Amino acid sequence: MNRQPCLVLGTGNRKKGVELAALFAPLGITVQTLADFPESFQVDETGNTFAENAACKAIEQARRLDRWVLGEDSGLMVDALGGSPGIYSARFSGPGATDASNNAYLLDKLSDTPLAERTAHYVCHMTLSDPSGRIAAESEDVCRGRVVFAPRGEHGFGYDPLFEVVEYHRTFGELGAVVKACLSHRSRAARRLVPQLARLVESGRWR
Ligand code: IMP
Repeated sequence: MNRQPCLVLGTGNRKKGVELAALFAPLGITVQTLADFPESFQVDETGNTFAENAACKAIEQARRLDRWVLGEDSGLMVDALGGSPGIYSARFSGPGATDASNNAYLLDKLSDTPLAERTAHYVCHMTLSDPSGRIAAESEDVCRGRVVFAPRGEHGFGYDPLFEVVEYHRTFGELGAVVKACLSHRSRAARRLVPQLARLVESGRWR
């Protein structure tokens, strides 16, 4: 019998899960999320890089679930802050951080920074682990922009209302899901992963 390869998205972030599911849907790969597996657990992000954190998430969940798992780690790097918040994007403003508190904290940190120096980029690293915990595919990409002075738009999540794609004169909060799915760090990293996934399926290793 021909089964479709199945991929578990190793993220507990619901909005990221929705974006990733939409990116992989056209590949003929069945996508599930951690919410489909009661035995999944929260993986501590102990790495020092996006790559290390994505690998932890993929490998630990894959072994636990005995499934192919895609680990994803992403964040915002602001040039004027020496690349911060980076891997600490989700917890930038401290314990109990929310998107709103992180955005307020970022604006505060950049309060003396003029527009020309507010350049930033999102980074996304994706790592696919096979059920034994072996890394089978990996990709990373970025999306460049700048941090505006006040939140704009209701779409997306995290820093999206502050992150302006300069060519569009709009933040991801204003641009919405369809445009974000073309331009974002996550969609670029996913597109880089696609040929590797196709080779795994063709080789018969991933069934
Ligand atoms: P992670 O779940 O540890 O990878 O945390 C990622 C964090 O980076 C999120 O909580 C956001 O603060 C930020 N981030 C990553 N990707 C995006 C995005 O596409 N839009 C807005 N913020 C993002």
